[in-house]
Amino acid sequence: MNNYEPIIGLEVHVELSTRSKMFCSCSADYFGKESNTHTCPVCLGLPGALPVPNKAALENCMKLGLALGCKISDESRFERKNYFYPDLPKGYQISQYRWPLCKSGIVKVRNKIGEVREIRINRVHQEEDTGKLTHSGENTLIDYNRSGVPLVEIVTEPDFRDTEEIRDYAKKIQQICRYLGISNADMEKGDMRLEANVSVRKVTAGHPELVEGSLAHAGPTSVGDSSSTTRNDMLPPYRVELKNINSFRFMVAAVEYEIRRQIEALDKGERLIQETRGWNENKKQTYTQRVKEEANDYRYFADPDLTEMIVDSDSVKKTKEEMQELPVDKQKRFVASYGLSETQAIMLTDTREFADYFEEAVRVGKEYSLQPTKVANTLINKKFNRDEILPAKFVEMLVGEQEKGVLPDEELEKIIAQAITDNPQAVADYKKGKESSVQFLVGQVMKFTHGKADPNRAKELLTEKLSSRV
Ligand SMILES: [Zn+2]
Repeated sequence: MNNYEPIIGLEVHVELSTRSKMFCSCSADYFGKESNTHTCPVCLGLPGALPVPNKAALENCMKLGLALGCKISDESRFERKNYFYPDLPKGYQISQYRWPLCKSGIVKVRNKIGEVREIRINRVHQEEDTGKLTHSGENTLIDYNRSGVPLVEIVTEPDFRDTEEIRDYAKKIQQICRYLGISNADMEKGDMRLEANVSVRKVTAGHPELVEGSLAHAGPTSVGDSSSTTRNDMLPPYRVELKNINSFRFMVAAVEYEIRRQIEALDKGERLIQETRGWNENKKQTYTQRVKEEANDYRYFADPDLTEMIVDSDSVKKTKEEMQELPVDKQKRFVASYGLSETQAIMLTDTREFADYFEEAVRVGKEYSLQPTKVANTLINKKFNRDEILPAKFVEMLVGEQEKGVLPDEELEKIIAQAITDNPQAVADYKKGKESSVQFLVGQVMKFTHGKADPNRAKELLTEKLSSRV
């Protein structure tokens, strides 16, 4: 039995939510709009139309690069990626290849066994989106509303070794985009798209075997970039690209499937080929979409209509100052300033709105000597609609409970656990479908606490606990 190690690189595309498109003044807010109503000679690629770069988009691309620990290039430029397909009326996509705006970053992720690992970011570059094709029967419809919408591509080195790292990474990219306010990064709407390059290599005595005829793993990576430290001769001689997968969950399932498929094939002595595969959710299998004999030749060359971009250190500094506090920095601050545990800090910073809500509640609660840890615990454990109950109202309720001597959740949970152990018959009845048994258990909790528990909360926690023990 051979040992194998998965080698995975990710390419993530994020559509920026700027007002206008990347190189023209058409509105970039195209989702759900009537087809071909957000177009002009530039984004339709009509002869003679000249592109003008969107400054806000470039600033957002730079922010994302900085958030991912990249260096901002002093000089970068746009190139034409030439290919012929109807989603691209110009015959080329304006992208970046040899001179990306941001290079060499690091993102920390957790793997399946909870270890922290570093994923190297090769580049974060600016490009434009293409039009959208809809195939129906023998016809294909083209909508150019999306053509020219600002798109950022984030390319990693082939550093992922399991799917938990992929999930964590994708979630972090999404979270950072939302924190920075540069994109909704919604996978279902196509604001965020993932592509994975998957291969496996044989490992002997803990070391990868050298392979002959290896090729570079990720897409437009190592050109003109010496920062890449992955030795090509350590990489498998093929890679499978997983494309057009529109949810984190499906991507994880597709990568898991691919790893198994590839290991089985290699064990049988088969040779794996370079190809693009999609995911069939009904069959829970990947399938061949396109077999590539050679790497595409896009004949990249510098776009003569767009000049080189010079970024000085002052504007990088200014952009850094304008940036929102990032999740990881907020977590550190929450631990240091409010005495929270790392887990609590991670939960409270899940979204910027949740973190802001917490801090506002702490600020208001200070007048009532409410502890930040108390605010944090309640916010994490109690489910309520934060749009309806604003922080001030929430603090008022919390203070009210404290004054009435209502038991906090942590103590209530212990008593509930006791009530469950003491009343196996009621628990069994509940599991057989007798809903009223919960009411009996609530009664026991109230009796035990001499009426100090909030009966509604006790019922909520009891139901949660009983259903998790089925
Ligand atoms: Zn346009």
